[in-house]
Amino acid sequence: MTSDQSSMPKKTVFLDKDGTLIEDVPYNVDPKHIKLTTGAIEGLLLLERLGYELIVISNQSGVARGYFQESALVGVEEHLRNLLGEAGINLSGFYYCPHHPDGVVSEYAIACDCRKPAPGLLLRAASDRNIDLHSSWFIGDILNDVEAGHHAGCKTILINNGNETEWELSPLRTPDFIVSDLATAAQVIFSVDSHSECREQSALVEVIREA
Ligand SMILES: [Mg+2]
Ligand SMILES: [Zn+2]
Repeated sequence: MTSDQSSMPKKTVFLDKDGTLIEDVPYNVDPKHIKLTTGAIEGLLLLERLGYELIVISNQSGVARGYFQESALVGVEEHLRNLLGEAGINLSGFYYCPHHPDGVVSEYAIACDCRKPAPGLLLRAASDRNIDLHSSWFIGDILNDVEAGHHAGCKTILINNGNETEWELSPLRTPDFIVSDLATAAQVIFSVDSHSECREQSALVEVIREA
């Protein structure tokens, strides 16, 4: 990952991978079973137009559990970049946590700070790429994604597609918005951005009036 500290802080949409960006096939690393979710292309094209860069943030405990080698994730990232690239969408980063405290592969069997709901991967991406976390969003399909996003200071959207089953709610785990797919998630971000621009403009009008 190249670091980019030169320009203005960037706004980013962080994306969970399994169940959010691609169909959830548990512990799969075979490119032929990697399929983008409904609405993914449409949603990501809109987010790019709105000026967001896109970064994947994924728990990959299959490495710690010994289901596949960490190197298999290189092929996953490459295939995902190709699928998105065909639609003209650029992925700015692909961050994953290979750990799990109950893993069987000793070097990965640790309690880390990067497995969601911990925010470690988002913080690492933010420091690598000069990201303004407070103008950024996290979109995921379970509440651990929401918690990780809020820990890092992002706004959050839950795609409620049935993958969250426990609904252990707390303030940090309460999504800002709940939608059905990535296309709708992007519409929500578009709408929130438009409203805050309106507010900024009307604040400016107030200042001008008072002057
Ligand atoms: Mg998921
Ligand atoms: Zn980790």
